[in-house]
Amino acid sequence: MTFPVTRPRRLRMNEIVRKMVRETRLSPEQLVYPLFVCPGQGVKKEISSMPGNYQWSIDGLVEEVRSAKALGISGIMLFGIPEKKDDRATGAYDDHGIVQEAVRALKREVPGILIITDVCLCEYTANGHCGVVSGDEILNDETLELLSRAALAQAKAGADIVAPSDMMDGRVGAIRTLLDQSGFRNVPILSYAVKYASGYYGPFREAAQSAPAFGDRRSHQMDPANAREALKEVGLDIEEGADILMVKPAGPYLDIIRMLRDRYSLPLAAYQVSGEFSALTAAGQLGWLDLPRTMMESLIGIRRAGADIILTYFAKEAARLLA
Ligand SMILES: [Zn+2]
Repeated sequence: MTFPVTRPRRLRMNEIVRKMVRETRLSPEQLVYPLFVCPGQGVKKEISSMPGNYQWSIDGLVEEVRSAKALGISGIMLFGIPEKKDDRATGAYDDHGIVQEAVRALKREVPGILIITDVCLCEYTANGHCGVVSGDEILNDETLELLSRAALAQAKAGADIVAPSDMMDGRVGAIRTLLDQSGFRNVPILSYAVKYASGYYGPFREAAQSAPAFGDRRSHQMDPANAREALKEVGLDIEEGADILMVKPAGPYLDIIRMLRDRYSLPLAAYQVSGEFSALTAAGQLGWLDLPRTMMESLIGIRRAGADIILTYFAKEAARLLA
């Protein structure tokens, strides 16, 4: 049957019909809101390249998370900016490190929203690298011990889910082993399984004050040109015990999200990163794009590609529009 019998426009006639036949939906419980916590009291320092996002001290963070919860957002992803950085990334696994203190406060003050903690060393190392460095090499196996200790410290503080973002080989297995040995068998691992070496992370480096002092992250993060390699990374992480998989960034890698959705049954998250947020926001500020509209389009595109969960700096704005 073809035109004039078939007319696809019949089902686009009005919003009630369009809503009924809509194939993909977005709701606040599919959103996770990334946040940055820093030492001090009453600190709310705007990240200039990410308007509307802040480095929060714990008191303000608690209020921000309360407002995210009130909008129906499922969880937050927490990044820490420590008082001091050193070569061994001590702040990452110190029981009184900034993230651990923040987690304790959030679990006490704002029950009922998932506290997911980023596990990496780059916010805590003086040189801004994701692992232990020798000369100009990031040492893989030596880093695993410190990452596992960081995940354990977060779980002890009460983190609901730990999320390794470092891209060291074997880290999911190392973290799972230490958590299980230490009585945290029920803490899930959300693995940044497929993380590309992306230029879209630029604004985040300002937010987390984690720009590498030398070199870059191409020796551990993936080449943007590679898709088959994503299958290899995901296969390894599943074998090592990952509970949720993540692709990062999201928008430029929708094909990867779809490929993983089609092949694996685990829940799939996608991280709409700082540069994706900032590019849309800047164009919106210039009046070149309708920001609310393109923001929602970018998010539904990520859902349509197959992501169950979206990490996004737009979480609160999007949840407000969905209410
Ligand atoms: Zn890192």
